[in-house]
Amino acid sequence: MAKVQDIYGQMVFDEHTMQERLPSATYKQLMRTIKDGEPLDIEVANVVAHAMKEWAIEQGATHYTHWFQPLSGITSEKHDSFIDPISDGHAIMSFSGKELIQGEPDASSFPSGGLRATFEARGYTAWDPTSFAFIKDEVLCIPTAFCSYNGEALDKKTPLLRSMRAVDDQANRVLALFGEPHQRVVTTLGAEQEYFLISEKDYEKRLDLVLTGRTLFGYSPCKGQELEDHYFGAIRPTVNNFMKELDEELWKLGVPAKTKHNEVAPCQHELAPLFANANRAVDQNLLTMEEMRLLASHYGLVCLEHEKPFEHINGSGKHNNWSIAADDKNLLEPGENPMSNLRFLVFLAGVIQAVDDYQELLRMSAASAGNDHRLGANEAPPAIVSMFLGDELGRVVDALIEGRDYKSHDRVEMDLGVAELPNFLKDNSDRNRTSPFAFTGNKFEFRMPGSEQNLSDANMVLNTAMAKSLKEFADQMEAVPAEEFRTAALSYVRRTLRDHQRIIFNGDGYSEEWPEEAARRGLANHKTTADALPCLVSQKALDLFAEFHVLDEAEVRSRYEVKLEKYNKTMNIEIRTMKRLVRRDYLPAINDFAAEIARHIAEVRAIMPNADLTNQESKLEALLEGAADINRHLGKLHELHHASLEIEDQQERANMNAHQLVPLMGALRDAVDEMELIVEREHWPVPTYNEILFYA
Ligand code: ADP
Ligand code: MG
Repeated sequence: MAKVQDIYGQMVFDEHTMQERLPSATYKQLMRTIKDGEPLDIEVANVVAHAMKEWAIEQGATHYTHWFQPLSGITSEKHDSFIDPISDGHAIMSFSGKELIQGEPDASSFPSGGLRATFEARGYTAWDPTSFAFIKDEVLCIPTAFCSYNGEALDKKTPLLRSMRAVDDQANRVLALFGEPHQRVVTTLGAEQEYFLISEKDYEKRLDLVLTGRTLFGYSPCKGQELEDHYFGAIRPTVNNFMKELDEELWKLGVPAKTKHNEVAPCQHELAPLFANANRAVDQNLLTMEEMRLLASHYGLVCLEHEKPFEHINGSGKHNNWSIAADDKNLLEPGENPMSNLRFLVFLAGVIQAVDDYQELLRMSAASAGNDHRLGANEAPPAIVSMFLGDELGRVVDALIEGRDYKSHDRVEMDLGVAELPNFLKDNSDRNRTSPFAFTGNKFEFRMPGSEQNLSDANMVLNTAMAKSLKEFADQMEAVPAEEFRTAALSYVRRTLRDHQRIIFNGDGYSEEWPEEAARRGLANHKTTADALPCLVSQKALDLFAEFHVLDEAEVRSRYEVKLEKYNKTMNIEIRTMKRLVRRDYLPAINDFAAEIARHIAEVRAIMPNADLTNQESKLEALLEGAADINRHLGKLHELHHASLEIEDQQERANMNAHQLVPLMGALRDAVDEMELIVEREHWPVPTYNEILFYA
C-alpha cells in the first residue's frame, strides 16, 4: 500500500488543494464563504469551478455530479460529463460557476411528502461549500442541498445546516457573556458505524435479505455470541483485506477512518472515524456506507447495514458522538479553571435541558422499521430517552442541585459556589452501555440511531433543542449586570439541573423496573415507529423548528409524511416477502419432506407390518401439525395485511402495522423456524443462521 500521508485526501478538493490551486484573492473569498457563511458571487464561483475541473480531470474524472440527500436518506447523484462539443467536431472539457453552484434535477421521483406538487416537478440543488467536493469513481461529486423552487428544503442536509447556524448564533451570545470574542461555533460528530459481512453465496440464496435487508426467518444458531469470542477478536483474513482496502479508499476520500474491530455478534464489525464538523461528518458517514457496500463485493462478501439482519443476536447501531466546538475548542470539555468550568456547566445544563424537553423528538429521530427491532431489545438502549453522566459528574450535579459543597471520590473538596470542578472528571467517565445518551468525558454519545440511518435527523433535533436552551440562558443573562453574571449564571445552572433532574438515570436501562420508574418520572416510552412519529407534528415541535428557522410547518409535515410512508412501505414489502417465501419455499419444503417420510413409513410397513415406526410417525405428525400451524398464521397475516392496505390514513395504517401485523409476523416466523429443526438439511430451502454466520 502507498504511504498513508501520500494518499490521504488525494481525491478531495480540500482547503490545502484550494490554497494550492486558487488565486489568493479567490481563495480568501471562498474561505469567507466557508467559514463565515458569506455569499459567493458568480465571478468567484467561475474561478473555483475552473480550478476544480482542472484538478478533477488530472485525477481522471470525466463527469461531475451534484451529490445530495433526498428525504429517503440515501445519497443521490446524476452524472454529467464535462464534455462540451465544439463546431470543428472536437470537444472541450468545461465546467462553469453556474454549474458548480446550482443544478436542476427533476425532483418528481424523490419523496417530498406533498411539499412539491407534481406540476412543479423541478427542484434545484445548491452547492454546500462547507463540505468539500471529492472524486468517486471518476466522478467529481459536489455536496449540495436540495430544495424546491419555492425554497422549501427537500433534503436532509438543509435543516442540519440551518440547525448548526442556530447553535452558532446562540452559543456566541452565551460566549459573549463570558467575555469571549465572536467565534465560529459548530457541532461536532463522530459516527461509529456497525455492519455485518456475510458471504455473497449465502446472501443470494436468501430472498428475505435481498429484498428487505434482514432475515425474516431463521432459528437461532447453535452458537450465538455467548462465548464473547468475537468482540475485538482476531479479524479473519478476508475481512481484514476488505478493511484494509476500505481504509485506503476512505483515506483517499479524506474520511478519517480511525478504528476498526470485530463487534459482539458473529460477522459483525465496526468502523469509527475521527470526529468532524457535523455536516461534513454526515457526508463522510454516507460515503463510508457506500464504500462498504461496494468494496465488500471485491471479496465475495455482502455488507449488511440493516439494524437487525439476524434475530437472536445483536443488531447494529450508529453511535452519534456529539459535542460543540468554538474555534476548535471543545465546549463540553470540563476544563481546568473555574471560569471555564462555569462555562462547561452552562453548556452541560443546556444539553440536559434540551434532552429532557425534547426527548420525544430525539426518540423520533431514531425511529424506523429496522430500528424498532433494536431499541428496547436488551442489546441497544431502551426506547426511553435518559442521560448518564457517570459517577463523578453525577455527584457534581447532585451537589449543585442540593446546593451543598462537593466532595469527590478522591477527597478533593470544592466549594461549588465558585463552580470549581475537578479536572480529573474527563478521565472519570464510566461506561454504561445501557444508556441512550451518555456523557463520555468531553462529548455525549447518543446511542439510539440505527446503523442504516442518515444522522442528519438526530443532529438536527439535537442542535435545535440545544439552540433553544442556549437562547433561554442568553435571554435571561443579558439582562443581568456584568458583575452579577457569575452568581446569576450559577443559580441558573442549579435551577435548570433541578428542573430536569428526571432525565438523569445512572442505573441499568435493561432492567424491568426502569420502564416503571421512567413512567413515574413522566418520561416518554414510544416503543415503535408508529408511536414515535406523531410528536414530530406536535405544536411543541413545530414551534421549536419555526423559532430557529430550521423547518417551517410545511417542511415538518412533509418529513412526517415521508417517514410514515417509508415505514408502511417497508412493512408492506416485508409482509409480501414473508407470504411469498412461506407459500413458495417453506411450505413446499415441509410438505415434500413429510411426503418422503410418509412414503418411507409405507415402504417399511409393506415389508414389516409390525415394525416400530413411532419415531417416523411422530416426526410426520409434527410436520403436519407444523404445516397446519403455518397455514393458520399465514391466513391471518394475509387477511390483516389486506385490511391494513385498505386504511387510507397513513398514521392509522402504521399503528395497525406496528401493533397487529408485527406480532403476527413474529408468530408466523416462529412457526416456520420450529420446522427448521425437524426438516432435514437437504430439504431446507435456504442457508440457516449456522451456515451464514459461521462461514469459513
Ligand atoms: P468509544 O470508546 O466509544 O469508541 P472514542 O473515544 O474512541 O470512544 O470515540 C468514539 C467516537 O467519538 C470517535 O468517532 C471519536 O472521534 C468521537 N469523538 C471524540 N471526541 C469528540 C467530540 N469532541 N465531538 C464529537 N465526537 C467526538
Ligand atoms: Mg462508542
